[in-house]
Amino acid sequence: ATMPVITVDGPSGSGKGTVCRLLAEKLNWDVLDSGAIYRVLALAAIHHNIALDNEADLVPLAANLDVQFLIDATTKRTKIVLEGEDVSNTIRNEEVGAAASKVAALPRVREALLRRQRAFRSEVGLIADGRDMGTVVFPDAEIKLYLTASAEERARRRFNELNDKGLDVTLSGLLEDIKARDDRDMNRKVAPLVPADDAITIDTTELNAEQVFDRVLSILSDAV
Ligand code: C5P
Repeated sequence: ATMPVITVDGPSGSGKGTVCRLLAEKLNWDVLDSGAIYRVLALAAIHHNIALDNEADLVPLAANLDVQFLIDATTKRTKIVLEGEDVSNTIRNEEVGAAASKVAALPRVREALLRRQRAFRSEVGLIADGRDMGTVVFPDAEIKLYLTASAEERARRRFNELNDKGLDVTLSGLLEDIKARDDRDMNRKVAPLVPADDAITIDTTELNAEQVFDRVLSILSDAV
């Protein structure tokens, strides 16, 4: 098929990001980190003093969002530039993640970001990482994966990651954050986090990154 897409959806901490990176390396395909778009929008809203539930002002902000995703040829890392400022690190903090899930609950905001996400589709192939990639953005994707894991395990992963970076976080605090974000993402009216009917679900609770990736590769080889 032309412009093939593999969608990878699931809650935060389910291991999507790692799977997408490994898949993109293996297949040499592009990646869409759709969560980053919602994070950038939330950060832009904070910068412009727009309330996170002010749909009327968030829609034009989303439609005209001045953001660039620049891939460094050597490191392969994506630099994200918002209104001329490198926000690659800033958008990763918990506060921005929580803000992103608030703006992401607004139907017309999601609508305003659809075209931008679909524009990532390319001849080389696209790995699309998010919450609604298989259900809404790329319903015609050839392969749809849904990654999940218990909230406790996801909080532990996040804790280890942030602890390694020297950040002062608690496991119980992160578990609360994760549950609040799950609740918002799964129970919103539009594009809630659910597996597509034709998605293959992988529960990663008991698996390490390598085991998850092995499972993904065997799904891909079954599919062709
Ligand atoms: O994946 P990430 O944690 O970066 O996403 C941040 C937030 O953006 C999610 O909690 C979710 O509310 C929202 N999001 C979304 N749809 C997507 C990707 C992310 O609603 N496709």
